[in-house]
Amino acid sequence: MRETDLKKTYLGVDLGGTKLMVGEMDENGELLRYKRYPSGPLDQREALELIKRSLDDFLADRPDMPDPAAMGLGLVGRIDGRTGLWLEIDHDRAKPTPVTEILKETYGMPCFADNDVRSAAKAEMLFGQGKSSENWIYLNVGTGVAAGIVSNGKLVTGGHCNAGEVGHSASGIEFRAPCVCGRPDCVESVASGLGLDLCARLLAPQYPDTGLAIPADHTRVSASEIFSLYETDPLCKILTDNAAQALANLIMNLVRFCDPETVVLGGGIMSDDFLYRRILERLDPYTTRYVTGGVVRTGLDPRKIGLLGACSNAIKGMEEI
Ligand SMILES: [Zn+2]
Repeated sequence: MRETDLKKTYLGVDLGGTKLMVGEMDENGELLRYKRYPSGPLDQREALELIKRSLDDFLADRPDMPDPAAMGLGLVGRIDGRTGLWLEIDHDRAKPTPVTEILKETYGMPCFADNDVRSAAKAEMLFGQGKSSENWIYLNVGTGVAAGIVSNGKLVTGGHCNAGEVGHSASGIEFRAPCVCGRPDCVESVASGLGLDLCARLLAPQYPDTGLAIPADHTRVSASEIFSLYETDPLCKILTDNAAQALANLIMNLVRFCDPETVVLGGGIMSDDFLYRRILERLDPYTTRYVTGGVVRTGLDPRKIGLLGACSNAIKGMEEI
């Protein structure tokens, strides 16, 4: 095969709260190969070292093919997508790091970055919802809850690269669980992976006969186990109902704020169809009457959308040069 017959490829690094994935995607959004690396609570310096080690490993094992056209990063925390400056992981881990500059220098290819959820929204822009609409929301329900909001074809970033942190809005349900952000009743603290774990531990003493496994160590309570015990276990029913109502309230609020044609749901918690169906039951038809594309689950693989998003940062970045 001549080199000109080969499609351009893009490297991607997806760093979430619990895992790091490195992959390579072609320009049609097909992941050619990928590898997962263990991660954990890291500061930015440690995370950058982990990214470099993982990239070295991934690239050493690369079949004989042309160099990738560019690299994209989807990182947890607050990133300035225009400059590639990684401002913070969270409030306590804030050491602004010029991550794209460092990696461009190290690997000799253009490098672009954004936060993990906006990156996933860019994958939707290129290969999913964005192909048919200019006004939509990508709502990620995973370790946390956050959104990529696309308005008139543009992804909203905000004045401090902090737009879309919609998980930190009031859940509107009776049960309250304190949130890490300081507010007493956030959606994230009842409906995310971390929130379901927190609420299971808070409510378990009221349900001594529960069959739900609540690990004594730092292992998180399994969301899919909660959903699978819904019909038979009262604790699992209340946890699921609370999460579904909080997410339905959030979606209806976002619909009123942003007037999207479609709301796309993704993230690890949304890979389970059960919670999705409980959310749909709770959406008011009048409130969502202009959401003509519906409240849908992503057509991209919800477990790989973060990595597709990281690679999409590279494509979008090269388009804008
Ligand atoms: Zn919060």
